[in-house]
Amino acid sequence: MKPIPKCFPLLLLLLTVVSQVSRSQTNNLYSYQELSHLFYQKQKDSLKKEWTCPVRYKEKATQKKYKEIWDERTDFFLNAITDDDYVYDKEISDYLGGIFNEIAKANKTYMPVQPMLFLDRSPSVNAYAIGNNVIAINLGLVVFARSREEIALTVAHEMSHNILEHAETSMRKRAEWLTSDEYKQSMEDVLDSRYQRLTRLKKIFENYSFDRSRHQRYRESDADSLAIILLKNAHMGFDPAFFLRLDSADMVYRQPLKQPVKNYFSPYNITIDEAWLKKRSKGLSTRSYNFQEAVALQDSMKTHPDCIERYNNTKAAGTVDQKMTPVPARIKEKAGKMMIWNMYCNMNLAPCLYRVLMEKDNGNTDPWYDFMLHNIMLELFHADRELHRFSAIGVTQKEYISKDYYELQTMLEQIPREELEKCCQQLQKAAFWANMPKPEQGMKNLLNVLTTGTDNTDEAGVKAAKEFVSSNDTSLYCEFANDIKKK
Ligand SMILES: [Zn+2]
Repeated sequence: MKPIPKCFPLLLLLLTVVSQVSRSQTNNLYSYQELSHLFYQKQKDSLKKEWTCPVRYKEKATQKKYKEIWDERTDFFLNAITDDDYVYDKEISDYLGGIFNEIAKANKTYMPVQPMLFLDRSPSVNAYAIGNNVIAINLGLVVFARSREEIALTVAHEMSHNILEHAETSMRKRAEWLTSDEYKQSMEDVLDSRYQRLTRLKKIFENYSFDRSRHQRYRESDADSLAIILLKNAHMGFDPAFFLRLDSADMVYRQPLKQPVKNYFSPYNITIDEAWLKKRSKGLSTRSYNFQEAVALQDSMKTHPDCIERYNNTKAAGTVDQKMTPVPARIKEKAGKMMIWNMYCNMNLAPCLYRVLMEKDNGNTDPWYDFMLHNIMLELFHADRELHRFSAIGVTQKEYISKDYYELQTMLEQIPREELEKCCQQLQKAAFWANMPKPEQGMKNLLNVLTTGTDNTDEAGVKAAKEFVSSNDTSLYCEFANDIKKK
């Protein structure tokens, strides 16, 4: 046996130090190869073979329609995989997988096989059951949830949709309706009538959708009831107040900032002119918008009345005395970053920037957020050059945003091009770059070529993007670079 070298403890210490340093660094997000078009390629091919439409109807026309609807759903899911709507991240997937496992193993009679989990990159606070024992959880939900139990409730609800075969039933109902005599007759009536054809056609679909939404409500309530049973069997806490919290989930941008917008730019020596924050008047008809009034209006309309209903229906089953386990800070932080990066890639620059500023409000000093602020402003300048500044901002309606958000959005719209260029130059020489890892430095160079660099022709951009990809081939930022390459 070889003696253990003397340097071993030192080496171990060194390794520990190195791993701690890299853990505290910011580039520990998923790799480019973990985006769904690559990571789930094999699963995608096998799902395509496995998901063949079962024979349910003797009636040829109904079976044909049913197969059409079935294949549409398969295509929808497979296309979402191809479009990188999903991502694999070991840490987050393991965490969610643990919740899946805990519920599934306590409910074997309902779920002989544990459902397959997909992590959806969407920022909306949601999860969905695709059917065929597949469930997708949005990053937005992981960021929003306060406890493991809140996530478990959502997971159990989606598992219930699958157990109760809701996706399957709704596909069948649709196939049956679209091939029914009643539907055919009403279509014929519409085609016979000379007048108001469109109005009548609309009516048929209205009836159809009304019918569907009524069913939808029963289904939601059934899924909640079963979810409570699944959680009970797994001895997991259930807090009905989560439904009330869900009610305000899409109001995240109504949260005000802690400081005036311009303050967030002063650490980079960027001066924001107050005039950019105020919408330029378009004549006498422009009145200033009253945000207080809008809040009252919104409250009276209540976007999700069913959340209150869900709370009322389930509050008796609550186990509020049970301890709730907070979602680990690391999981939340990671999910938040992944979500911000996704919003950036989808060119939703204003909400993306607002999320960055909200992190700063939380006292987060991680330079990764400075890096993202840099990316957002430089991409805005790039988009402006390509004449699509407004679509890159991703304008949100006033009803859903705070006064601060509106000012920020207005600033992104109105900052003059030459001022934006100066702002980009300031960001490129800011202090936070000092200890940035290589892929982030690579993004800096790429964005420099695309915007303020001396040669910013399309060819130079494509060349820089190719260089980025070849020297950072596992970086998640390849998603951005690959988009530039395609031009
Ligand atoms: Zn549901």
